[in-house]
Amino acid sequence: MEQALVRDLKSRFGGEVLVPGDGGYDAARSVWNGLIDRRPAIVVRCRGVADVLAAVEFGRTHRLLTAVRGGGHNVAGFGTCDGGIVIDLSPMKGVRVDPVARTAAAQPGLTWGEFDRETQAFDLATTGGLVSTTGIAGFTLGGGVGWLMRKYGLTADNLVAADVVTADGRLITANAANHPDLFWALRGGGGNFGVVTSFEYRLHPVGPTVFGGAVLHPAAQARELLRFYNRWVAALPDEMTSMVAFITAPPLPFIPQLLHGTPMVAVAVCYSGAIEDGERIAQPLLSFGPPAVAHVGAVPYTGLQSMFDASAPRGIHAYWKTHYLAMLGDSAIDALVAETDKMQALSPFTTLHLHHLEGAVGRVDSGSTAFPHRDPRYAMNIVGLWNAGERPDPHIAWVRETYDAMRPFSTGAPYLNFLGDEGAERVRAAYGPGTYQRLVAVKNTYDPTNFFRVNQNIRPNVATAR
Ligand SMILES: Cc1cc2nc3c(=O)[nH]c(=O)nc-3n(C[C@H](O)[C@H](O)[C@H](O)COP(=O)(O)OP(=O)(O)OC[C@H]3O[C@@H](n4cnc5c(N)ncnc54)[C@H](O)[C@@H]3O)c2cc1C
Repeated sequence: MEQALVRDLKSRFGGEVLVPGDGGYDAARSVWNGLIDRRPAIVVRCRGVADVLAAVEFGRTHRLLTAVRGGGHNVAGFGTCDGGIVIDLSPMKGVRVDPVARTAAAQPGLTWGEFDRETQAFDLATTGGLVSTTGIAGFTLGGGVGWLMRKYGLTADNLVAADVVTADGRLITANAANHPDLFWALRGGGGNFGVVTSFEYRLHPVGPTVFGGAVLHPAAQARELLRFYNRWVAALPDEMTSMVAFITAPPLPFIPQLLHGTPMVAVAVCYSGAIEDGERIAQPLLSFGPPAVAHVGAVPYTGLQSMFDASAPRGIHAYWKTHYLAMLGDSAIDALVAETDKMQALSPFTTLHLHHLEGAVGRVDSGSTAFPHRDPRYAMNIVGLWNAGERPDPHIAWVRETYDAMRPFSTGAPYLNFLGDEGAERVRAAYGPGTYQRLVAVKNTYDPTNFFRVNQNIRPNVATAR
């Protein structure tokens, strides 16, 4: 990057501008996934919309590959790039909660922990991530699976408006009345259409205490547990959201020492209604087995939102693959158990998650947002995680093998937010042909040159596209 250009940008930029050699450059180029090691020519840390406008103009004028970063948790590392400009939004952490209208306008640098802190001051929340350090921005644009989804829908279903800086340097507001095509695309279509500088969410009364936690069974009982679980979730009220996690038991005080380091299957729950009702509805889960560990009860909602934080520290190396599963029949369970039995030979961080969807997620019309997958019962994430310095090959091989073993039971589509850098076909599969074609039309309107292409890319089909 020419020094004169950098000096000029710095002179009209509010936030930090970092180039290779600057103190802080290495931290600024990194993302959550430590496996990603990219070297952008310049990282700009935006303080506000004026900085975003300047950064987009700079990237456009100098024809730079442009990556946009919210929380930096995208597993494929789309929050950074080689040789181009990174528009880092993480300093933009403003949030304004309107407790009367039950809405929150939030800037894109917020994490879910920071967002929840503000909304929970009024006993309000919207569906957010299961790890509190995840960014609200990329998360919302890709859908958003979390503890409140079966009652209140995905995060994207709770988006009521967004301010967007477009590739040609305009700031527009998209909502049901203004730019409805863009508003539709932002709810599931990822970071393809511009830089979102404000997300306005619908909020709901939640907590501050909810019924939640996890039960743990030895992995040897996984088959019976999954058969029970698949029956149990079928009749649950919307308030109960749950997930299964194949784990290596961590050394936590509520887990007996003799179980530490052993393979276990956890069912984690959150009931977003009266605590006594949650307790009653969880009873079959609490009695099944019975579990080796039952760590459930009344917990602060924000506590539940950070329950898994230690399982996914920043800088860990990660490789994931994902399927939607319409159902969990006996053959799928057998395949899943056969593959998860091999996890022990890998890293204690490696895990496999099954998120139970349905409820309010399933009741949204599949054409009303760019998130069409309203029917599957489960979103599965095969999560390879290992420490820096370890050879990646066995971890990646296990994730791929498990993915292949589960393919016969998949709907054929991946969940966008868990998708790696797997090519154009998988992005198309994440939407299906109808939604994908609609997204291309929106992309043609708002980003015809494909300026925003460091993402799960929707390629425009106009002549100027890159
Ligand atoms: C530890 C961990 C836990 C997770 N838990 C969950 C979970 O519970 N539920 C779930 O659904 N997903 C979960 N995810 C996946 C998560 O939704 C995605 O990784 C998501 O991309 C994170 O958003 P981010 O802002 O942190 O990511 P980033 O890497 O910053 O961005 C992701 C994508 O969004 C684009 N983008 C970011 N900000 C903007 C913006 N303001 N405007 C336009 N485009 C933008 C980026 O260009 C990039 O393409 C988890 C991920 C991790 C690593």
